[in-house]
Amino acid sequence: MSSKRYCERCGEYLGDYMTDDFFKYLPMKYCPVCKTEIVREQKRKCERERRKKKRLERQAEKTRLELLQEENTLQKERIELLETRNQQLREEVNRSGTKPRIGVQVSAQIRKKVKR
Ligand SMILES: [Zn+2]
Repeated sequence: MSSKRYCERCGEYLGDYMTDDFFKYLPMKYCPVCKTEIVREQKRKCERERRKKKRLERQAEKTRLELLQEENTLQKERIELLETRNQQLREEVNRSGTKPRIGVQVSAQIRKKVKR
């Protein structure tokens, strides 16, 4: 194993294992210029990742909102249909003078009457 340390990026000599500066150079992998550059690159990369994550979150939120709006529209349509149906049932009950029975039986009766 070589005692000499060089910048892993540009190959610049960083110092010697046997010098007094051993502890200073031991944790160094890059020369100051490259280190600055690498820190900058890492910051940029982090920022990119952060922005990407934000963008994906916004997209997911947008999709969720669109689905909720769609669901809302469908619910409104469903309510309108139920109101129409309710009105029809009321009219049928008023015409026949009978009290409404629940569910399918009423619907079946009304359907028969409507056909006549
Ligand atoms: Zn370097």
